[in-house]
Amino acid sequence: MAKPFASSADTSQKKETLEKIADGVYALTAEGDPNVGAIEGEDFLVCFEARATPVAARDWLAKLRKHTDKPVKYLVLTHYHAVRVLGASAFEAQNIIASRATRTLIEERGKQDWASEYGRMPRLFKEPESIPGLTWPDLTFDDHMAIELGGDRGRIDLHFCGRGHTAGDIVAWHEKSRTLFAGDLVEAQAALYTGDAFHMDWSTHTLDKVKSFNAEKLIGGRGAVAIGADACNAAIEQTREFLNGMIEHVGAAHRRRGTLKEAFEATHRALAPKFGHWPIFEHCLPFNVQRLWDEFDGIDWPRIWTMERDREVWAQLQD
Ligand SMILES: [Zn+2]
Repeated sequence: MAKPFASSADTSQKKETLEKIADGVYALTAEGDPNVGAIEGEDFLVCFEARATPVAARDWLAKLRKHTDKPVKYLVLTHYHAVRVLGASAFEAQNIIASRATRTLIEERGKQDWASEYGRMPRLFKEPESIPGLTWPDLTFDDHMAIELGGDRGRIDLHFCGRGHTAGDIVAWHEKSRTLFAGDLVEAQAALYTGDAFHMDWSTHTLDKVKSFNAEKLIGGRGAVAIGADACNAAIEQTREFLNGMIEHVGAAHRRRGTLKEAFEATHRALAPKFGHWPIFEHCLPFNVQRLWDEFDGIDWPRIWTMERDREVWAQLQD
């Protein structure tokens, strides 16, 4: 029987959990749906990720408002994916921050990515007509940017750690509470999406840099908050293991001049016992294998996913 396309058949609401993980540090996780968070400054808030629509973002803000009524000064976007950026207008932030590479990717492929992600994960797009248009970061940087929080609240350091889940991912480090918002560079027991990724960079020096913060609390893109150094390192190393498993099996099929379909089946067989029950595993794997195959073909810059290309790859590999 054909598998339903991507996450189109996943219509059940996920349970959301808002955790105060340190003084003024909040994370909302949702059983494998995209995570969001916030850190309080002395008289303002810094929010991380924007969800797929303003209506979905307002649900998160309503929960956050039970803890603080400070205005949102900065909205930080870890990367360009639609399900994390298109709700931005709900925050009424003074500035929207992202890497320069993320802004470039929004210019290049924001519209196609919006259509693609809506087709893949319609449930996340609560009231899609509330989206006013693409989200445009207005504060960008290449490698590092600091946000002073005021009072005794410390500061947030935003870092580009190298190419990974996309060409432009950043992480947010709050030294004072030793908390790292890692975006989709790290997933905690949720499948990786690597359809726009740089697998070789991500699995090596980029994850090494993420690990070098020695975080004691880590909020990944999806899945539970990791608390404690061991749990943080475990989430990072599970992410690396997933990537290395893909590189091993797609690479082997590519070297023996096999087909994309053979690469997909070998990778699925190898990864499913450990990762198959994680959220969005079946959804992601065809797109992941296609992108990694392209990398082995020498295609450095990820091809743009469109609704049409999504369906073609799905039909070829997952039906
Ligand atoms: Zn993403």
